[in-house]
Amino acid sequence: MPRSAISRLWGRPVGLYVHIPFCSAICPYCDFVKIRDRNDLKPAFLEALEKELLFYRDSFGRIALETLYLGGGTPSTLDIPSLADIFEQIRGCFDLANLQELTIEMNPEHVTPEYADGLAQLGVNRVSLGVQSMYTEELRFLGRAHTPEQVKQAFHHLQSAGIDNISADIIYGLPGRQVSDLNKTITGLLGCKPTHISVYHLTIEEKTPFAIKKIKAADDDIGGLAYDYLIQTLEQAGYAQYEVSAFARPNRESRHNLGYWQWRPYIGVGPGSHSFFMDTRYEQKKSLHAYFENPYPKIVEVPDYKQYLSEKMSEFVIVQFRQKCGLDARLFQNIFNEKFEDVFYESLNKMINQGHIDYIDGFYRLSSQAWMLTDSVIAEILTTLLTTR
Ligand code: SF4
Repeated sequence: MPRSAISRLWGRPVGLYVHIPFCSAICPYCDFVKIRDRNDLKPAFLEALEKELLFYRDSFGRIALETLYLGGGTPSTLDIPSLADIFEQIRGCFDLANLQELTIEMNPEHVTPEYADGLAQLGVNRVSLGVQSMYTEELRFLGRAHTPEQVKQAFHHLQSAGIDNISADIIYGLPGRQVSDLNKTITGLLGCKPTHISVYHLTIEEKTPFAIKKIKAADDDIGGLAYDYLIQTLEQAGYAQYEVSAFARPNRESRHNLGYWQWRPYIGVGPGSHSFFMDTRYEQKKSLHAYFENPYPKIVEVPDYKQYLSEKMSEFVIVQFRQKCGLDARLFQNIFNEKFEDVFYESLNKMINQGHIDYIDGFYRLSSQAWMLTDSVIAEILTTLLTTR
């Protein structure tokens, strides 16, 4: 296992992600690791999770966490006592004295006043709601069980319980829908006062029910116009875009996700999760039954140090350019002990000359004209790495 300049990262704050794989119903576009909700499997899941958490404690001691994020799947398929058990396990294995953010993903139909109170008592201070749309017909198309009215109630119950930091996910680019159709969703959502909104274009992933039925997302032109509309409307409403998909009220950015984009170490537990900690990448089995049998993560072996370094640089470029503030050249140099400008000289100059990248105060960021071309600009930057290393 290589030890390198990358070790300098390890004084940085750590985030813990817990993957809860259960869902009340399976959405036809989803390719996450999930399983239809089964109460009989939950005790075995909690047992396996505890073993995996203990593995990290026994390997590294009680790591201090800055953020904790329960995602899935649908964590709100677990009742409050099960969530309390998980938090207890985590508290036994990690140091939570400086925890800043505790997020749980939820489906709107799961939020009752009692559940919201229970979450608040457990210390949850942020909820990410899978809203997706405020049109009943779009929700049915997406296989979601909730109604727009339940979205409004979910916000109300959470806010009444004192959890006011609420993010909402929405999906655009549905087949046959126009940009103007987004208006109802955005207006309805803004009325609920979310602090954060994430927007995702519908993608048809292989082997999902949508792919099998040959459903097509909206074409790129309509998707591009919809994205422009979302940027303009949300920014006018006071939500600053800080990443390709993410908009937030002042100081309400997702600290946990910023950790990934700013390349901080993270630990993921649960089926299908990944960790990157102390120069080592770990991965978990995707199958729930395989996870029950052996809940210990596998080290992702690195064939040679050169390749390892190239992979890490690529990952850094990919996540950093997704941020509105762009790539932090000083952080690159701190981590890799080389100058970003030296490593990516050729393609960086090309992208700057074409007006796709600007340089401002130590950060290389996508210009406003290139914001729609994020993936292709990043691919172009990475060509230098492929040809020179
Ligand atoms: S609720 Fe989320 S994780 Fe579960 S099937 Fe739907 S999209 Fe996938």
